[in-house]
Amino acid sequence: MKLLDKLNCSDKLTPLFSKLGIETNWDLLLHLPLRYEDLTKLYPIVDAKAGQTVLLQGSIIGCEVVYKKRKQLIVRIDDGSSILSLIFFHFYPSYATQYKVGKEIRVFGEVGVDYFGNKTMFHPKIQTVKDEKAEGLAKTFTPIYPITNKLTNGDVIKLVDTVLEHCEIEDYLPHSIIKNHEQLSLPQALLTLHKLTPKQYESDYHLKALERLKFDELIAQQLLMHNIYLNKHKNKASIITPTHKYIIELLKKLPFSLTNSQNKVIKEILQDMAKPTQMNRLLQGDVGSGKTIVATICALAAIENGFQAVIMAPTEILAEQHYLKTRDLLSDTDINIVWLSGSLTAKQKAASIELCQTTGQIIIGTHAVFQDKVEFNNLGLIIIDEQHKFGVEQRLLLVNKGVKDGEVYPHQLMMSATPIPRSLALSYYADLDVSTINELPPNRSPIQTLLIKNSRRKEIINFVKEHASLGHQIYWVCPLIEESEKLELENAKKVYEELSEMLSPIKVGLVHGKMKAKEKAEVMADFQANWTQVLVATTVIEVGVDVPNACIMVIEHSERMGLAQLHQLRGRVGRGSIASQCVLLYDEYALGEISKKRLKAITGSTDGFEIARQDLLIRGPGELLGQRQSGLPSLKFANLEEDLDMLHTAKNVAAELIENHHKSADEIIKLWFHEKQYLGA
Ligand code: ADP
Ligand code: MG
Repeated sequence: MKLLDKLNCSDKLTPLFSKLGIETNWDLLLHLPLRYEDLTKLYPIVDAKAGQTVLLQGSIIGCEVVYKKRKQLIVRIDDGSSILSLIFFHFYPSYATQYKVGKEIRVFGEVGVDYFGNKTMFHPKIQTVKDEKAEGLAKTFTPIYPITNKLTNGDVIKLVDTVLEHCEIEDYLPHSIIKNHEQLSLPQALLTLHKLTPKQYESDYHLKALERLKFDELIAQQLLMHNIYLNKHKNKASIITPTHKYIIELLKKLPFSLTNSQNKVIKEILQDMAKPTQMNRLLQGDVGSGKTIVATICALAAIENGFQAVIMAPTEILAEQHYLKTRDLLSDTDINIVWLSGSLTAKQKAASIELCQTTGQIIIGTHAVFQDKVEFNNLGLIIIDEQHKFGVEQRLLLVNKGVKDGEVYPHQLMMSATPIPRSLALSYYADLDVSTINELPPNRSPIQTLLIKNSRRKEIINFVKEHASLGHQIYWVCPLIEESEKLELENAKKVYEELSEMLSPIKVGLVHGKMKAKEKAEVMADFQANWTQVLVATTVIEVGVDVPNACIMVIEHSERMGLAQLHQLRGRVGRGSIASQCVLLYDEYALGEISKKRLKAITGSTDGFEIARQDLLIRGPGELLGQRQSGLPSLKFANLEEDLDMLHTAKNVAAELIENHHKSADEIIKLWFHEKQYLGA
């Protein structure tokens, strides 16, 4: 019998196991016990720890029905070492007479601790001890498996036993690796987990065995990513090498020179585009590090080679800003720039779509650029701004529109200001190469971040007034209050009215997500031109917006916002040479542990990478990356929050396997991901 053979069990059981996702012997062996029931050892109550499921024994010292929130029966037992309360929410009246004071009973269940520090057990299994000496302990130590309706624990145990007995389990990892990393062998680990002995249980040996599975799972994932990576680079693409027809002119025209970091990433990207295989590159750089100009230069390289480039951004405001800025920058060239967004009238849209298919050169827009009707003439480069706002599928839709002759792909450049710590980016973005801008343009004034209680809101309004009178510009952000956009909107409108009145004659603008694109654009243009000094906004301005004269940002209810979001928002100020401030208003009564940590992190640093690291600590990478983003199968045993160190080890081991042990590598991938859907993805 082989590990990947179909389960050999009765026709009745097969569908029941199938329901649990168990089809093969290997699946079954990875179906681990939730816990173990140890009836071989009697613990003194005093030694039983909260969370442990144990057997205890004592004589009843009290039994009463009490009415707390719910009616409940409490039976207390004492074994001389300590006292334990047994709690029943469901009980028959006869229970109260059955559990007489003085009676000796044995109970089995999970130990808990109540509000007062007393030990408790809810609905334990109970056995009366008639004659203590005569009654030996049961010899059973039982793994308890996750089961479904009709499948019993016994069914699972029986089948596991058969598989363990008859299946050839060989270790696919080379002995040297197992030894170097002090892991158990695979057969030993599986045997331990399913056939744990009480003695092993006591010394937590099953955790050691579990570690081996986590280790392998992470290695398998690394190997899989390597495969995906190789595959990605198999896609053909057009060679793009700049002729500098436009780029040199643009560089001359810029009012600044590029930072070393910008030059470095441009070089990396252009080198990649000069290859006959598809580029898949993530450009990360903190908010304000100047990714846009890098993107523009790469787009020009594509155009110099006769290709089209498309730039897609997640919000109308951001996309339009890109469009206007690009049009401005390239105003003295003959480049045909196309604007394509959902807000265009049907007629305008049709005209833009027509240009995509014909003479358009740089196409800039929102999600509209990958809608059904759009086709491209000769797409060479796709640029996706704030890529974390798009799903993998959306990315693919756009890419597929650019495939020529069924095999030549457009190059892809994705940009993100939500930096993922480098180690994680490298281990987690399977299909991406990463370029990082790690410095800000010079002469940026640092942003000072202030945490202010809500009760001092009036003072902050005065502070805003003072600055607005000096000609400075201010963002006032009202985030999501409830899980409802409507309320967010109402609140923003209220704040807008309040500020308009209190700050008069200073001009206040309002922008929110429910406005028509045209209205939004007008409000933004007014602010950009400094016709309005204060802009009340919902979180629509979170990404990308660039108004260098804005130097103050007030964020209401900052305690409700995520770290990355706060950092993004704050990045809207500090873009010019005026000293900038970010005021975080918070509701002290709504401040939980996590929000405290977040606010501490955001005031403690302005470095996006440091903030991402903190975010990782507070939220964990699962949320940071999300399965949707990584595009990988989720982990069953390993947990990136707790096993981050192991991830790094696994990465090295995977590299070693690829280098020296092909067979092992193949075997591991086959076993862990036999659902071929991920292979060759
Ligand atoms: P982000 O990386 O957040 O997208 P942007 O590309 O919007 O940042 O750039 C932020 C601001 O910095 C813009 O106003 C841009 O013109 C300016 N900028 C970009 N590169 C430089 C540079 N090398 N020196 C000075 N200013 C720069
Ligand atoms: Mg940007």
